[in-house]
Amino acid sequence: MKFADLHLHTHFSDGTFSPEELVGHGHRLGFAALALTDHDSVEGCPRMAAACEAAGIVFIPGTELTAEYNDTEIHLLGYLVDTQNKKFLSDIAKFQAVRQNRIHEMVARLNGLNVPLKVESVFALANCQSPGRPHVARALVKAGLVANLDEAFERFLKKSRPAWVPKAKMSALEAVELIHQAGGLAVMAHPGLNRTDDVIPALVEAGLDGIECFHTKHSTVASERYLEIADRFHLLVTGGSDCHGLSKGKPLIGTVKLPYEHVEKLLAKAGSQKSKSEIPHSAPRTPR
Ligand code: AMP
Ligand code: FE
Ligand code: FE
Ligand code: ZN
Repeated sequence: MKFADLHLHTHFSDGTFSPEELVGHGHRLGFAALALTDHDSVEGCPRMAAACEAAGIVFIPGTELTAEYNDTEIHLLGYLVDTQNKKFLSDIAKFQAVRQNRIHEMVARLNGLNVPLKVESVFALANCQSPGRPHVARALVKAGLVANLDEAFERFLKKSRPAWVPKAKMSALEAVELIHQAGGLAVMAHPGLNRTDDVIPALVEAGLDGIECFHTKHSTVASERYLEIADRFHLLVTGGSDCHGLSKGKPLIGTVKLPYEHVEKLLAKAGSQKSKSEIPHSAPRTPR
């Protein structure tokens, strides 16, 4: 049976693997399709596409946008977006700038707590446009200022801890629209993790295309509930491991195996959307 992992991160956001390393693992595990979903970024897609092609794996370009709806944080996966789309790139660049400024603020807070972390060390370690809290945590470990990542989050970086800085986010409705105008499909990521069930109807109204039913942090019962919700709202079903590489021991790739039929449905919907957008809205006028 063919299967896929549609939720993966590389070092172009807060994963530790390069696209080539990630595809190497995917190939060894027998995946027929892989998607790259780095946070607020599509920077790694060209390299991941090339590595997948060389390995005979179907590649789904994507991203994971951090958004909000009525103060609830929602992660939206944008699949099959045009990674060259100008508005898409300029909008996500704004959120990458927000992330970079937030690194400065988090380091300033740490310094205010007499934790002598240098901001340059975080940017050197992150080495991408879309840095986040995991990079600050890894830089703290590397500088010997905390023992491990858990300590970094528990003492400083978790929500409401002293070095936590809230992140300006786009609204979930804008995120759906942004993904659509770049030709992509919008899928709610791990609803069981963010507890965002209540928001599903409003997002369906706004054009949400799917929900991530299978995820490392979803129990079997949770996955079944989301399959039923997907069925009720006629949504695509997706799933993935949310692998961030070696940041926490064994990599998660291989722990979620999405049946390939769902990839076929995703590709079919993207294809029909594209052909719809290519049909002129009004019939061409015949010259007199
Ligand atoms: P950010 O987007 O900068 O707010 O960082 C969020 C990312 O941090 C998530 O995608 C996870 O990869 C990671 N993360 C969140 N909480 C923890 C935690 N308690 N321990 C380790 N990593 C975490
Ligand atoms: Fe992450
Ligand atoms: Fe997420
Ligand atoms: Zn993720």
